[in-house]
Amino acid sequence: MRVRGKVNLGLGILAKRPDGYHEVESVAVPVGLADEVAVRPVPYGIEVRCPGVPGPPEGNLAFKAGRAVLPLFPAPFGLDISISKGIPVGGGMGGASADAAAVLKAARVLLGEPARREALDEIARFLGADVPMFLVEDVTADGRVSAFLLRGRGDEVRPLRSRDLPELYLVLVLMNFPVSTAWAYARWDEMFGGRPYCHPEQRGTSAGLDETETRSASGYSGTSEDPKGRRTTGFMDPRIQRIIDALKTGDARLLGSSVFNDLEEPVFAGFPVIREVKHALCRAGALGAVMTGSGSTVIGIVADPLHGLEVCREFRRIWAEESCCGLEKSSLLTGRPSVKELVLVDRSRVLGRCKIS
Ligand code: ATP
Repeated sequence: MRVRGKVNLGLGILAKRPDGYHEVESVAVPVGLADEVAVRPVPYGIEVRCPGVPGPPEGNLAFKAGRAVLPLFPAPFGLDISISKGIPVGGGMGGASADAAAVLKAARVLLGEPARREALDEIARFLGADVPMFLVEDVTADGRVSAFLLRGRGDEVRPLRSRDLPELYLVLVLMNFPVSTAWAYARWDEMFGGRPYCHPEQRGTSAGLDETETRSASGYSGTSEDPKGRRTTGFMDPRIQRIIDALKTGDARLLGSSVFNDLEEPVFAGFPVIREVKHALCRAGALGAVMTGSGSTVIGIVADPLHGLEVCREFRRIWAEESCCGLEKSSLLTGRPSVKELVLVDRSRVLGRCKIS
C-alpha cells in the first residue's frame, strides 16, 4: 500500500484546551512523497519492520494500530507489518499517522465488515490527531481527496474532493533533523502564555463561508451566524478561507501569499535554520514558503514543474553560499543542522529530487 504524507498549507492554533490538547484549524493536502506499507495476516502476534525509525518496534505507531485492531477479529489473529519510509521522520508530514492509518485500512479489508468502520474511526482518534485524516482519504466515495479541512485537535476532518481542485506543485525542503511535535506545542504554550492566541487577522468571528460552501466544500455541519447575520461554518481564522479559495481556483500566487503556520515562531526560536530555509526558498523565487506541521520540513509553493526546477536550482546556489558564511547553529542540536534534500512533488507523485551535501 502506498501512503502519501501531508503538508499543512495553513495551521492556526486557537487555544490550549483544558484536556491539554490544542484547538486548531488547518488545511492539509496529501502530497506525492509516500511510504510503502505491507500488511500480511499471520496466525498470531504483531511484527513490525520499519528501517529508519528509531526505537523498538513496539514504539511504532503502526504496531500500536495493529495491537488496537486485533481484538476486533473474532478468532486469534496476527499481523506482519513491513514499512519502507519515504516520508521524513519527524518532518511534520504525518508519516507515523499515515502508516498507522494504513494498518487500519488493511484491517478493514481483512475484517470485511462495514460495521467495523466506527470502531476503526475510534481507534484512529485514539492513536493520534492526524490519523483520522489518513483514514478518511480511503473511505471517500471516489477515493481521491485533495485537501482536508481540520478542526478540533486536528481530528475533525472534512475532505475537499479532487474534482474541485486543480493540481498543486510544491518544493519540499527536507532537513537532516526531526522536530518533536510535543516540544513544538510546549514552546507555543510558553510563548503565548497559555492564553487564547489571537492573530491580528482574527478580529472577525469566522471565515465567512456560505451555506453552499458548508455543504459542498467544507461539509462542516455546525453552521452559525456572524454579526451581519450571514450563515457561516464557524471557522475562527479568516486565513483558512484564503487558502481554500486559492486551492479551488488553482491560483498558486494567492496560495503562496496565504500559507501560514502559527507554530513557526516557537519552532524558529529553537531551530533558526528552519527560518533561514524559509527565507532562502522565497529568495529562490518560490511564491510563498511555510513550515509544515511542527517542522522540520519547509514547503515552497511553485506555479508548475518548470518553475519548481528553477526554484530548486536557485535554492541550492543560495544555500551553498550561506553555508560558506556559516548559518547560526541551533543550541538544540549536536550535529550541524542543515538541508538534506529538495523534493519536487505534485499531489500524487515525486517529480524530481536532489540531495544537498
Ligand atoms: P506529526 O504527525 O505530529 O506532524 P511528524 O510528521 O512531525 O508528526 P512523524 O514522522 O509522523 O513526525 O513521527 C515522528 C515520531 O514518531 C518519531 O518520534 C518516531 O520515532 C515516531 N514514530 C513511530 N512510528 C513511526 C512511523 N511509522 N514512522 C515514523 N515515525 C514513527
